[in-house]
Order: sequence, then structure tokens, then C-alpha cells
Amino acid sequence: MDKIVPGQYQPPLPLDKLILQDGAEGSGDRMELDVLIVGAGPAGLACAIELARLAKADGAELNIGVLEKAEALGEHSLSGAVVNPRAFRELFPDLKDSDFPFRAPVAKEAVYLLTAERRWRLPTPPTMHNRGYYIASLCEVVRWLGAKAEALGVNVFTGFPAAQLLVRDAAVAGVRTAPAGLDRDGKPTPGGTAPNDLVAKVTALAEGTRGLLAQAWCQWQRVPSENPQIFALGVKELWETKQPLDRVIHTLGWPLPSDAFGGSFVYPLEPNLVALGLVVGLDYRDAALDVHVLLQRLKQHPLLRALLAGGEMVEWGAKTIPEGGFYSLPERRSGAGVVLLGDAAGFVDVPSLKGIHYAMHSGLYAARAIFQNLKNGAALSEYDRLVDASYIARDLYRTRNMRLAFRDGFYLGGIQAALMTLTGGRFPNGKYRMHADVEVARRLSPGLRPGSPETPVGVSKVDAVFKSGNSTRDTIPSHLIPAKDVPVEVARFYAHVCPAGVYEAIDGGLRINAPNCVDCKATDVLGPRWTPREGGSGPKYKRM
Ligand SMILES: Cc1cc2nc3c(=O)[nH]c(=O)nc-3n(C[C@H](O)[C@H](O)[C@H](O)COP(=O)(O)OP(=O)(O)OC[C@H]3O[C@@H](n4cnc5c(N)ncnc54)[C@H](O)[C@@H]3O)c2cc1C
Ligand code: SF4
Repeated sequence: MDKIVPGQYQPPLPLDKLILQDGAEGSGDRMELDVLIVGAGPAGLACAIELARLAKADGAELNIGVLEKAEALGEHSLSGAVVNPRAFRELFPDLKDSDFPFRAPVAKEAVYLLTAERRWRLPTPPTMHNRGYYIASLCEVVRWLGAKAEALGVNVFTGFPAAQLLVRDAAVAGVRTAPAGLDRDGKPTPGGTAPNDLVAKVTALAEGTRGLLAQAWCQWQRVPSENPQIFALGVKELWETKQPLDRVIHTLGWPLPSDAFGGSFVYPLEPNLVALGLVVGLDYRDAALDVHVLLQRLKQHPLLRALLAGGEMVEWGAKTIPEGGFYSLPERRSGAGVVLLGDAAGFVDVPSLKGIHYAMHSGLYAARAIFQNLKNGAALSEYDRLVDASYIARDLYRTRNMRLAFRDGFYLGGIQAALMTLTGGRFPNGKYRMHADVEVARRLSPGLRPGSPETPVGVSKVDAVFKSGNSTRDTIPSHLIPAKDVPVEVARFYAHVCPAGVYEAIDGGLRINAPNCVDCKATDVLGPRWTPREGGSGPKYKRM
């Protein structure tokens, strides 16, 4: 074997398990709501807040529920993050920027091209200008938004992953949650709880990147997109440093190979508290590429070595980002009884690495459409109309081919992206066609051959998972679905893809250490399918 096409080893989405007739046997409790929101991220919580406000202003009673798989708000939230405050200002017109849960305004910024030992400062591309924006921790943002939602009477149910879509004919009727307390073989234990059914007039899927139910709905309802969605994996560390940092830094180049797209970010939440991350497109060509290992290498660069010297890594985490942009948006993000918000719909602008304000604004627009739907029966397609007429669609259209140009490699992609910037997105005419990441062939480099030396530097994956706060019980059944009989070369590829050390290549195939999973979804993109497991499993991020 000299190359791997990951799609040949990926099981199909288990649609027969994900789409369930409402009323099907097997649930414990049943709860009826007006609106059910799946996912307490910026998209879901902005939607809940706007909806509760609209109802209050109208003197209407709305029963709104938000389901979140993390045990507490924010524990599964991870971002950079430099935040464009525009959605906050619209959602909270009575508050000042200084009232929002931001750490600091962006004072200075720098972009560098790196080689292993050197750096060149580049002019900041217009898409990467961050003046007027704020540095924040998404965990803190989510906790703050959650408190605002609860104060308005929204029911936030943490520790409840939605596992299946409940449907009536072609309409979404709600969700069934994952059971808790199963043993390793998936059998109920005495302290366990059965799944619950939550039904609602409208269900908003705000599950974030690579949302399982959003994927299932698009496939079930045959909702296409012009290009398949593509993803990047971001691995992030939070450092308490001895040296202060006064600027937002982005880097390109080393340690990424020239046929991979990505770069790093270094954001000071406080002068001595620095978020540091590496983001790499999952269409890279080398099967041995390992984003976690590359981040460890990046920290050896003189630029970062000097900053981190004597400091301590206090948190670690990972998450994917939908990178396809405009041409990867589902043709419609609404259907009978359902809307798709935020990352679950793909509202991310990759050239600026921004998704939070788009997620929140999609939540606002969805709330307005849902409210009219409940009040006077207006179609939920009003949500699509609002998004398509908004700056979300305009921004994504302007940069529509910029990420896609990098399928041709870093240098050719860089030249094309520069021309796109100069022409306001008009160069080139038309659309770059993309393959799904899972269809991109990976070459087997020497690193993947048995017995070849690997030179680990920095933090191991085991230590990294510890720093994510993940303390999932060891006796949990595996929530990951690999293909049968995975060749050892593919098992090694998965071991590199997964930043959390979940996969190990062993004699005769693949071993899965499922409790280590931090729900980043990278192998859901490239290999074994991810499914929700019992509530409260996974990481416990505090300031990511
Ligand atoms: C490394 C990295 C750096 C980034 N940097 C920036 C930046 O600097 N600025 C910026 O604006 N954006 C940035 N982004 C993008 C930004 O974080 C996202 O666009 C944004 O968080 C999307 O919000 P969301 O509400 O759609 O999804 P999320 O924030 O992912 O929230 C989704 C929520 O749904 C929950 N959930 C998922 N599935 C289920 C389920 N089945 N049942 C119940 N709950 C579920 C999750 O636990 C999560 O809490 C970055 C992303 C990454 C990964
Ligand atoms: S197994 Fe979990 S942590 Fe590993 S890549 Fe897949 S989703 Fe991410």
C-alpha cells in the first residue's frame, strides 16, 4: 500500500439509527417544548435569548429548552478567540463593549512567515485585521450567554447529548437523548438512565462543527451543497507565561509542509495568559501528519520558545472548524420543524478565522423566523432569506474561493488568495471544486512504516488529554464506529489524525481508547464515525 484514500475505510452515517419515528419505543421521560435548541454554543444561546426576548415583548409564553452535552456550560467550548463584537452589540443594545465577557481589546497585531529558525514579518492581509475586536475565552463567553438566557426563563439542560432526531413524516419533531450509565458492552447498569424524548414545534440544530444531527438531516432530506463541507483541525494550548505578550500573532509556513493549509494563532487573554493554537486543513496529503505533534514542534521556534520559556501549559484542547465557506453551505438551512445554525450550517469565514459572530447572528435570525412561525405560521424558510440577505452571506461570498485556492498548495494558493483580496473576491470567476477531505489520497511516508523512529517533542497526547480535564469513566462503551478490518496502515493514520491518542495501531489492526476522546470530530471527518455518549463525558474546558 503506498497511499490511503480514507473514504474507502469510513462507514456510512448510520442513518437508520439517527432518524427515529416520534413515539418509537425505548425512551424514559417525554417533555414537550415550544422550541428545542440542540447545543449551548454562541449560536444556540443567542437564538434562545432573542427568542425569549421576542416572546416577552409580545406578552407570549414560550417554553424554550437548550440541550447541551457538556456537564456544565462552556466545558465543550473551544475557540481562538478574537471576537468581532457586532452580534453582541445587536443582541444586547443596552450594554457597552466593556460589559461583554471579553478579556482585552486587540491592541497590536503581527503576521509572520516562519522557517524552522527564522521569521519574516508580513503586511497584515485585510482579512486578518483585528483592530476593534476583542480577545476572549469561548468558555467564558458561553457561561455568560447561558446566564443571560436562564435569566430570561430559558431552560438550559446540561449533560444531555441529543443522539437521535425524532421525526414525523418529513418533519423534525424533536430529539432523543443518549442513555447514561451503560456498561462496556452497552448494557444498562442499575444506576443508569434511559434516553429521554424532547419534542418541540421547532428544533434548532446548533451542535457546532460537524454536527451529527445536522449531517443526518441533510442526508435524510437530500439537501445538497455546491461543494462538500471541508474541515480543519485546531489544537490549542493555554499558557501562563513569564514573558508578557502585547499583540495578536498569526503565523504561516513552518512547521507545516507546503501541501497543507493552515497556520498558528497566539492571542494574549492577559499579558501573561496566552492562547496558542495550530489549525491545519484536513485535506493534507501526508498520512503521517499529526497536528498535535506539529504544535509541539512549533513551540520550539525561537519566536515561541522565547515567549513560553519558564511558563506553564495550563489547558489543552482540540476542535475541528468547517472551512468550506460559501460553496459548502447546505442549499437550505431550514425545513419542516427544523433550522441549522452556526458551525452546524458552516457559517465560518476562514481567511479571518471567525465564526463566533456569524454563529450568534444566525441564532438571532433563526429566533426571528421561529417566532413568526409560531405566532402566525410563517414559513421557517424566512430564516434562510434573512441569512442570505445579511452580512453573513455577503462576507462568505467575498472570500468564497480563498480557502479553496490552497488545494493547489501553499505557494500557489497564497498568490491566488492575494489576487482574490485585491479584487474583492472577483478573481477568479466561478467556483473552485473541492473533494470531501475523506476522498483526498494520502501518501504513506516513511513515518508510517513499522519500526520507523518517531521523535516526540513537547507534551504527549496522554498528558494533553489530562490537561483537557477529561475524566470520562473507563467503563463507558465505545461511541466511535470504525470500519471492520482496518489495515494497520490506516490504523496508524487514525493514530496521527486524533490529537487525543484515542487510536492505536496494534498487531492485526486498531485499538480504540474511547474515553480519551475530546469530541473534536477529526476522525468523524476522516475515519471512524463519532456518536454522542453519556452526558458529561469528554473534556472539561475552563478557559479555552
Ligand atoms: C481552534 C479554533 C480557533 C477559532 N478561532 C476563532 C476566533 O478567533 N474567532 C472567531 O470568531 N471564531 C473562531 N473559531 C470558530 C468559532 O469557535 C466557531 O465558529 C463558533 O464557536 C461556532 O459556534 P456554534 O455555537 O455554532 O458552535 P459551538 O461553539 O461548537 O457550540 C456547539 C455546542 O453544541 C454542543 N453539542 C454538540 N453536539 C451536541 C449534541 N448532540 N447534543 C447536545 N449538545 C451538543 C457542543 O458541546 C457545544 O457546546 C475558532 C474555532 C477553532 C476550533
Ligand atoms: S476520537 Fe475523538 S478526540 Fe480523537 S479525533 Fe475523533 S473526535 Fe477527536
